[in-house]
Amino acid sequence: MAFERTRASVDRKLEALGLSAKYKMYRLGRGESWCSERRRVLHINQRDADSRMMARQSIDHVVLHELGHVFSYENKAKLGRNAKARRLFGNIYKHYRRNMKPKRNSPDFISTYAQVHPADNFAEVFGVYVHFGGDMKKVGKFLRSGGKSGVVMKQFRWLAGFVKQAG
Ligand SMILES: [Zn+2]
Repeated sequence: MAFERTRASVDRKLEALGLSAKYKMYRLGRGESWCSERRRVLHINQRDADSRMMARQSIDHVVLHELGHVFSYENKAKLGRNAKARRLFGNIYKHYRRNMKPKRNSPDFISTYAQVHPADNFAEVFGVYVHFGGDMKKVGKFLRSGGKSGVVMKQFRWLAGFVKQAG
């Protein structure tokens, strides 16, 4: 089943970066994917894999995006007072109310969906970073192919440093 394959591939990527692969994952029949950060429980709707608002159209990315929310929740003490993170992503911890007005794809955001809330900006970058195993050459290639600006590359470089000392 595709879900098990996703789990295996996502866990391999997390472990390669020294990140925890401890989480529960349930299939969601309707509604958007979401997670309980505190309980490390993901509810994943396969349909979200097709969303063109996300950085990558894949179910792995949806899972890694949700795990990005878990990661920022668990690192709140350090991330919350990190001025550079705030400059790069915005206030990840501000009240979670998304701005769902239609948006254009912007070179300064990893994806269209990254523009709905700073927490999603972070989760989108996290998902792509883990997908490429922290390989900045691959990240750079991906960003260039998507016409992304240096702003987005700076987010990745910062995250690389942060994941190394958090993991
Ligand atoms: Zn999200």
